[in-house]
Amino acid sequence: MITPHGVVQTPAFMPVGTRGAVKAVAHRDLEDLGAEIILGNTYHLYLKPGDSLIARCGGLHKFISWNRPILTDSGGYQVFSLAAMRRIDDEGATFRSHIDGSLHLLTPERAVDIQAQLGSDIAMVLDECVATVPTGDQELAAVRTAMERSARWAQRARGRQLQLREEPHSAPEVIVTNIGQAQFGIIQGGIDLQLRTESVQRTIEIGFESYAIGGLSVGEPVDVMYDVVAHTAPLLPDDRPRYLMGTGMPDDLIECVARGIDLFDCVLPTRNARNGQLLTSHGPMAIKNARYAEDMSPPDPDCSCYTCRHFSRAYLRHLFVVGEMTAATLNSLHNIHFYLDTMRRIREAIVFGSFEKLRREFHQTFSRRPQI
Ligand SMILES: [Zn+2]
Repeated sequence: MITPHGVVQTPAFMPVGTRGAVKAVAHRDLEDLGAEIILGNTYHLYLKPGDSLIARCGGLHKFISWNRPILTDSGGYQVFSLAAMRRIDDEGATFRSHIDGSLHLLTPERAVDIQAQLGSDIAMVLDECVATVPTGDQELAAVRTAMERSARWAQRARGRQLQLREEPHSAPEVIVTNIGQAQFGIIQGGIDLQLRTESVQRTIEIGFESYAIGGLSVGEPVDVMYDVVAHTAPLLPDDRPRYLMGTGMPDDLIECVARGIDLFDCVLPTRNARNGQLLTSHGPMAIKNARYAEDMSPPDPDCSCYTCRHFSRAYLRHLFVVGEMTAATLNSLHNIHFYLDTMRRIREAIVFGSFEKLRREFHQTFSRRPQI
């Protein structure tokens, strides 16, 4: 995947840099770990420090001093999950900030403008996420309504993006900080395959640089999620990266690559690191476990990350138990390495024709097993 800030080898995993930083990890370490792209959350950056401030400082890349690709989401997901109050209508999403209660209106056009000012390499359209798994006709109708509204919003978002590209003088209030920014459309439709097909048709008809699958990993059984991905991914153009939004248990990575996905993001490696869970080649490990109190072996003897090369389970357990900030850093370094290394192994296996072998090995280790 070629972006204004460099090439991303796919399939790829994007560490989540919510507010302009991947929590507990410096950019230097992300670069050393081989992160080729990170994700920024528009909702958070819009509220603080504000997209206008970031634009005046030269855009997000310059502001945070990260010169590799950045993808930003539309802010919609956080409006649905974090905002103190929200009301959705055809115009957009009205919400109150979870920080200070101030009132905001996020429209499809506004989400384009904010991301244009942030200057990410890939901007996402505003969509309506339905965070329920439909069980009855009424809920299915709600999923259809959200899918149709998302398609209408996508049309408006594309119109605004093209306006900023082709007639920048018509929108002097927006400082476009990355003229090469791509825009991805998002497929909705819940777990209903017919709705997914319809969403694909309507979104492709509008025409985006590429496409993402949204609205999954919201509580549906994992097999159902895999079925929706297997149905939807092949309907998307095969010469463009397909992005599965917000999904990323370790076994999801390999299972969804098998179903045609090229891009992933998930807070799991960093959030779990802060909660003391290390993801290792032998399965997940709860580092606070008393059995590690005097265990001087590395967290994962097969891992080549900085944490595993230098520190013992006993030390990491101690740091975590006493609440040292370094615990979050060292655990996050390991977990991000695990994710990026998994993607490297997947890419190599595809090239060498050994993907199915890797998939079987991974399944034996990581298929939603209980903690070791
Ligand atoms: Zn490690």
